[in-house]
Amino acid sequence: MRLLLIEDNDRLAGFIAAGLGKAGFAVDQVATAADGEAALRSMRYEVVILDLGLPDADGLTVLAALRGRGDSTSVIVLTARDGVGDRVAGLNQGADDYLLKPFAMEELIARVRVQLRRPGGNLGLCLTQGNLLFDTVARQTRVAGQPLVLTRRELDALEVLMRRAGRVVSKVAIEEAIYAFGEELESNAIEVLIHRLRKRLQSAGADVVIQTLRGVGYLLADKTP
Ligand code: CA
Repeated sequence: MRLLLIEDNDRLAGFIAAGLGKAGFAVDQVATAADGEAALRSMRYEVVILDLGLPDADGLTVLAALRGRGDSTSVIVLTARDGVGDRVAGLNQGADDYLLKPFAMEELIARVRVQLRRPGGNLGLCLTQGNLLFDTVARQTRVAGQPLVLTRRELDALEVLMRRAGRVVSKVAIEEAIYAFGEELESNAIEVLIHRLRKRLQSAGADVVIQTLRGVGYLLADKTP
């Protein structure tokens, strides 16, 4: 689950990114409206967390541009302004939620999860394939009812594959779902991750397989007897 954070206060942005990272999200962080715009044009995000007081423009202009393009990505607005007028302006321009500073990290995480569960949002509650079940809210997997413990990155990779089960998922799509911009990444990181995930599924008795289509990507499918 990849999020974009547009916040110019370094300390606050670091704090938010760390908190969301711990909660299992990959977070791209930018500090200006222009960089936010550029990121939104080049990448698909599940949720955008948008500060209104940015150095180069009002955050609402980023929101207006996004909605102007017909993009319905969830946007949670962050602001220190507490006027009713600002709140109404934000919601009128298509913000999905509104959080006043200061806020508790748990509150922001809870609001992000609400956005992900929205009808038409990207987070179905449970994904299933064969005897494999993935609870995308609790971030837990089960094989034939038995808990299967996976790392954060294994979970992220599996989620992408399950959401597109039966279809080929490119290596780049998996990378984008798991890693934030600029994160150190070995050239064979995805191969190693998929290899490990495949072994874990196999030893847990999952009746699904992750096929490798060399040079193309990966595909999750039912195991054929
Ligand atoms: Ca600010």
